[in-house]
Amino acid sequence: MKTKYIFVTGGVTSSLGKGIISASLGKLLQARGFKVSIQKLDPYINVDPGTLNPYEHGECYVTEDGAETDLDLGHYERFLSVSTSQANNVTTGRVYQSVINKERRGDYLGKTVQVIPHITDEIKRRILMLGRKQKLDMVITEIGGTVGDIESLPYIEAVRQLKWELGPSNVLYIHLTLVPFLSATGELKTKPTQHSVKELLENGIQPDILVLRTEHELNMDLRRKVASFCNVNLESVIQSINVSTIYEVPLLMQKEKLDISVLQKLNIPAKNKPGLELWKEFLKKLKKPRYKVRVALVGKYVELADSYKSINESFIHAGAVNDCAVEVKYVHSEEIFEDNLDECFEDIKGILVAPGFGDRGIDGKILAAKYAREKDIPFFGICLGLQCAVVEFARNVLGFEKAHSTEMERKTPYPVIDLMEEQKGILEKGGTMRLGAYPCRVKKDTKTFAAYNKDKVSERHRHRYEFNNKYLHAFEKAGMIATGINPQTNLVEIMEIRSNKWFVGVQFHPEYRSTVINPHPLFVNFIKATIS
Ligand code: GLN
Repeated sequence: MKTKYIFVTGGVTSSLGKGIISASLGKLLQARGFKVSIQKLDPYINVDPGTLNPYEHGECYVTEDGAETDLDLGHYERFLSVSTSQANNVTTGRVYQSVINKERRGDYLGKTVQVIPHITDEIKRRILMLGRKQKLDMVITEIGGTVGDIESLPYIEAVRQLKWELGPSNVLYIHLTLVPFLSATGELKTKPTQHSVKELLENGIQPDILVLRTEHELNMDLRRKVASFCNVNLESVIQSINVSTIYEVPLLMQKEKLDISVLQKLNIPAKNKPGLELWKEFLKKLKKPRYKVRVALVGKYVELADSYKSINESFIHAGAVNDCAVEVKYVHSEEIFEDNLDECFEDIKGILVAPGFGDRGIDGKILAAKYAREKDIPFFGICLGLQCAVVEFARNVLGFEKAHSTEMERKTPYPVIDLMEEQKGILEKGGTMRLGAYPCRVKKDTKTFAAYNKDKVSERHRHRYEFNNKYLHAFEKAGMIATGINPQTNLVEIMEIRSNKWFVGVQFHPEYRSTVINPHPLFVNFIKATIS
């Protein structure tokens, strides 16, 4: 079978959940036995979102191969349990960068380099490359932004050309729009959808399938109206009604027969029924948990929950395994002081200190680690969270006055967290951190080992600073031990405080690896510790 290409565009407004629809469709096709990958095209000029503040664009997700990507790739991995890579996220910045590099190399000598055909060719090359390299049955490509945006035009034109080049049974367009409900008249309105499809038609694209986001059930009359005004058949008008959890969407899409509609249009017989048993089991536990715990997530980007997307989702996965609903209380690290700690952490059964950069809110994070250690509240420090726990331990247990990370205090007398050797000569900020998966050896008879139940693991990183091994002996003597070490470089990757119930800090990002089917063991055991 030739690789089939499915494009998902969005209309009317942003934030309708193209990523979730793409991931849900991917899940259904995968459950039928097809080899699928999902790609995101982002119309901004940053080469990758690694240099973006989380307030701008939510969390930056990191892949196994060290790409800093859009948070939608996290959804793709959490739904499909298949790794994405550098090739799964393409930005306008990256496309222009390669075209300009080729121009400088002389690849286009004699030619004027233009959006059409050079930029569109580069976009097409990156779409096709993913399917060919991984020998996929289907590539689902989500186009960021909303149809009608100036910056997404080259993408729309590129995917228009692909249908012509690859043939109609190899390319499919799904358009996701909104059907708003006017409470004053009690009506659902289809006009925005009609306009948005018209906009697509102006760009030469006739959508094959329409997915309509709605707060209320769409009746047959409304579906028929949309179908006739937008030139699609009735079965291709798919309702996507609001649900309480994103993990229900694959089942909703199955009920609406989105996968069958897609297969029909691509001329593929819809054999095997999707096997979604594990998924359904997870949902059942998620919806009727036996326990409930409140955990605090301490960070400085808490105003925007998307900044900690993967952590939030990891809590959901780990909660389900433990038959437990995890309620997350976001605690702003700039609002934690010596005299309000009890108030901040009232009724809290576990404290997670989040990743981050720079010194804004750092004192609050260090105080949170101290509070967890002294009160023996289960603690999970991720990346900067581990670094804060190390600084706190140095200052308050080892008596290293003014100990700090050199990221925050270059001249600290005790640089317990310091810039990695390989980072020292680096001046450019984009894509130059220690990124992607590295191996880690786990020490036996530790809480860490109890979670992983194996001694060789691999985890994804995104940082420049590390634990300063010069102080390791002092830490271990006082009870904070290194339980995970990189076997090649000796970098400390995991630390835990022996005497506490569950106090673990990791230099990597376990949240990027947690999926519905494979929840991350450290999250699972952290939640377990909060229940008992
Ligand atoms: N700022 C810290 C570093 O670069 C931690 C990074 C993070 O939390 N991702 O090492």
